[in-house]
Amino acid sequence: MLCARGLKRRSINVGRKLLANERVHERDDAIKSGDDQDICKNDRKSKAGSRTKEEEMKGQLVETLSTTVNHYFPKFNEWLRRLTDERNQGAVRYERQTIFWTALILMLTKRGSRKKITDEMGGEHFYENVRILSGQEDLERMPHGDTVEYLCMRLKEEELEEIEVKMIRSLLRSRALERYRLSQRYHTIAIDGCHVHSFDYEHCKQCLVQEDKNGNKRWFHMKLQASLVTPTGLCLGITSEWIENEQNYVKQDCELRAFYRMIKKIRRLYPRLPICVLLDALYAGQPTFELLTEERMQWIVVFKEGCMSHIYNWVMDVKRECGSENVIEETEEQEIEKRERRSHEERLARGATQNSKRVQVKKTTYSWMAGIEYDEDRNKFNIMTCKEEVDGHKTCDYVWLVSDGLNLNENTVKQLAQRGRCRWKIENEGINIQKNGGYQLKHLYSKDEVSIKIWIKILDLAHLINQLIEKGSLINIKTIGSIRNIAQRMFEHFRYFTFQKSSSPPRIQIRLTWDTS
Ligand SMILES: [Zn+2]
Repeated sequence: MLCARGLKRRSINVGRKLLANERVHERDDAIKSGDDQDICKNDRKSKAGSRTKEEEMKGQLVETLSTTVNHYFPKFNEWLRRLTDERNQGAVRYERQTIFWTALILMLTKRGSRKKITDEMGGEHFYENVRILSGQEDLERMPHGDTVEYLCMRLKEEELEEIEVKMIRSLLRSRALERYRLSQRYHTIAIDGCHVHSFDYEHCKQCLVQEDKNGNKRWFHMKLQASLVTPTGLCLGITSEWIENEQNYVKQDCELRAFYRMIKKIRRLYPRLPICVLLDALYAGQPTFELLTEERMQWIVVFKEGCMSHIYNWVMDVKRECGSENVIEETEEQEIEKRERRSHEERLARGATQNSKRVQVKKTTYSWMAGIEYDEDRNKFNIMTCKEEVDGHKTCDYVWLVSDGLNLNENTVKQLAQRGRCRWKIENEGINIQKNGGYQLKHLYSKDEVSIKIWIKILDLAHLINQLIEKGSLINIKTIGSIRNIAQRMFEHFRYFTFQKSSSPPRIQIRLTWDTS
């Protein structure tokens, strides 16, 4: 049987001669033959076919969201109900969990601005879905964007942080992150600073301020983010700390000072969690190492020329003199497709590309030295390096300082270097995705100095939940097309279908198997 495309092609042949492999695009409309009727019929059939496929999905992603949240965080709505609500309870039409879900869906579906709540998040299906998710039985319509903001201004950031901690604890308890432990023991936590908002006026008293040499001032908000990172590309925010000025400050707050507060905060929130901290060269220094030792944390810190320069030069000299025996070299060969340019004629022919194969050579060199004594035995340093070249091009050249507890030796060096490189996940999978992957971290969801932080925390929670959905086994990427489409498709499912929540959901296993590395 001929498909619609086949019929179109034959009919167009009447008008002009086509290249041998030419296929007519769906949009092409040069059809003027007697086959019109059949073509239309076939077209309708194929469109009906795609509608059926969409019908089959019927709010599937809302269901996936509900199942994922219920699976990992069965008490999620209960946590939301316990949030302090300072609104006049006699006049409240939307319960706090309904409003919170509305804000969360705005972030989960990556709408990008608060205005979209009023403009796009309405309709029968939408509020039915939110009613089922939030558990507010008498919900009859979606709240207005300003109603959501009204509550956000009255929420307490520390209570939302508590929810974040409960979510992470719940994930840890479910043993979903067990396989990503370093040396079967430590969870790797990357910490990095991040610019959130910038202003050309003094937005609030907590704003950091910077002045360039022409005297132009810029005010901004920064936060320090701590995220649990895995080699498979998970980057789950465990907590954050604002870098902001106190009233009547003498010296402005900075990343390093926030870092010291952050380490103590992490230990307070996760008292027994075995942690290995992954840090940038900015944090390399004796005060950092002392604090981490005091708080029972291990570390892998990037070591660069310029940070602790006297120690760096001395350590590298020692390594050059006597570090030649502790070296592992690995060469990996992989057959890949050679990408060849196609000519205009070849592109017109639209044939499948038939690239020839070539061998890609990856050379990795690991080296290490443990217990280098400096300063008459007062300080010992463990140093590890990793150099990688792919086809002669350098792709990685790192030096790290490693804590004693990680037991750096020939058996552990490869795994430790791999984890050291995972620090990048907080920049790529974390901050970059939040800024440029649809969440619009830099967008001012509110101008209010309290509400602004609440929105950022909701964004963090949405990013966490979305990662569990994206990398979980419930999602079928083939039907969605790509991970990037999930948010838009989920929004459509919210808008056009009402999902049915099963009273006794089947026992499921969500496996975080999707690998980005
Ligand atoms: Zn401000």
